[in-house]
Amino acid sequence: MTTAARAACIIGWPVGHSRSPLIHNYWLKLYGIAGEYRREAIPPDAFAAFVKNLAARGYVGANVTLPHKEAALALSQPDDRAEAVGAANTLWLDGGSLRSTNTDVEGFLDNLDACAPHWDRDLQTAVVLGAGGAARAVVYGLVLRRVARIMVVNRSVDRAEALRQRFGERVHAIPWEERDGLLADAGLVVNATTLGMERHGGLTLDIGRLPGHALVADLVYVPLLTPLLATARARGLRTADGLGMLLHQAVRGFTLWFGKKPQVTDELRTLVEADLTASTGGPGGIS
Ligand code: NAP
Repeated sequence: MTTAARAACIIGWPVGHSRSPLIHNYWLKLYGIAGEYRREAIPPDAFAAFVKNLAARGYVGANVTLPHKEAALALSQPDDRAEAVGAANTLWLDGGSLRSTNTDVEGFLDNLDACAPHWDRDLQTAVVLGAGGAARAVVYGLVLRRVARIMVVNRSVDRAEALRQRFGERVHAIPWEERDGLLADAGLVVNATTLGMERHGGLTLDIGRLPGHALVADLVYVPLLTPLLATARARGLRTADGLGMLLHQAVRGFTLWFGKKPQVTDELRTLVEADLTASTGGPGGIS
């Protein structure tokens, strides 16, 4: 047990839905670390003042969620990942400096490594649905793993085109209507849209066209088992879910703030699953 209590928090507006306190407080207890992880509901006009006074408020760092991720980037010294993605979700105090990173990149990659080891070996073509903040982290991760062709499909094709300009010639911008035609050559499909989330529209995708070795990943985790993942599993395809990414993205912040690299265990997953299931009415997410 360490003696000096440290504290971190998640800053959002709203922030009540966040599972980060459940995850970090579980690890604090598991590793016997004297510390605390809290929620901070901070409106946009108060965000800059809040993060400038993190230390005075007793915090060693913070997670940042909507709508503050771009502001967090602008107010801190970002690492390569936050800079590349254009958003920061993790802040920490390093001496007198406020530094930042984007842990969605490693959350995405580490979850795929855990769910489907060697998924990136000989992977030529990945299809990424969506071109928002989460898709930027996914595409950057795929660039880091040197995937040859990253087909970014988005309803507003200009946002997909912006990703091509940001990440270079491996990325191709594709209109939303053309998504099914890409699937026969895809080794990986990632849903980085909000489609499939509770109270959002459903995702229409003809995954019968995917090759049998394809891996299907969904970033959505409410519901836990999205219709996309359910269909992929029924077809016998490998899958990686959004909860796995959420758990893996939390590892780096905990390590930075509390000095211990935590493990993503089945016990932690069961704990967060139970919380999600209780608040959504079941694994299918009917509320
Ligand atoms: P965002 O920036 O708002 O982007 C939303 C994306 O969904 C855009 O590409 C948007 O297309 C697309 N979209 C929305 N409605 C659509 C529709 N009716 N038809 C087709 N496309 C539609 O959101 P985000 O922050 O990237 O988050 C995306 C998803 O990832 C959310 O479900 C979020 O919860 C999840 N996420 C999960 C994790 C995790 O750890 N598991 C981490 C981050 C995010 P347009 O550009 O055309 O509007």
